[in-house]
Amino acid sequence: MARKITPDMYDSLLREDLERYRTKAIDLGASRAKIVRVEDIPVDERVILKCQVPRCFGYGAGAQCPPHTLKPAELRELLKKYRFAVFFIMNVPPEVIVRDKETIKERVAAYQQLYKIVSEVESAAFYDGHYLAVGFAAGSCRHTYCGQQKDCQALRGERCRFSLLSRPSMEAVGIDVYRMVAQADWDIYPIGSGAQPADIPKGTLAGIVIVQ
Ligand code: SF4
Repeated sequence: MARKITPDMYDSLLREDLERYRTKAIDLGASRAKIVRVEDIPVDERVILKCQVPRCFGYGAGAQCPPHTLKPAELRELLKKYRFAVFFIMNVPPEVIVRDKETIKERVAAYQQLYKIVSEVESAAFYDGHYLAVGFAAGSCRHTYCGQQKDCQALRGERCRFSLLSRPSMEAVGIDVYRMVAQADWDIYPIGSGAQPADIPKGTLAGIVIVQ
């Protein structure tokens, strides 16, 4: 049941709630999840430089991707107003994570699961009275949800086709996901367009919900 809104946004229950959201992420399919302080979220302009060089298919193609989404400097300022987040990863088989047409269905399904975890954890926090909770996912919603569509509807000024599910990715707003996973002491490997499954021990998708 939704909690009544309070001015302190249930500050005294925050730790307990964060642990519940961490467990919820695991229950929904995350491989690892942890509570992090916002000062441990690395935001770096060079991350979105990598959306342009080499150019990602999603760059400029969707409302949740650069250059249309929140800029790293804006995120850095906003994070000063928050204290805690729940960060999680989902392990994905190497043959699914690489850009291979053969595994596109499995890849889209993995990304959709990741977006679902983000939206459900964010929604749980919202209805618990942490109403400023906000989540970021992975990849691009242009590929995850609208890959079969000719364009992004939101970029035409119309309603996003998946407004409650689509989110900017962590990397789209400048969060250094590789560093963050490494800081958590979890395994992650660089995977580019030329990656071969045999050369990659595992694939990793990451998401975060900034709670309060
Ligand atoms: S319409 Fe599709 S591509 Fe555009 S923001 Fe929504 S989910 Fe993303």
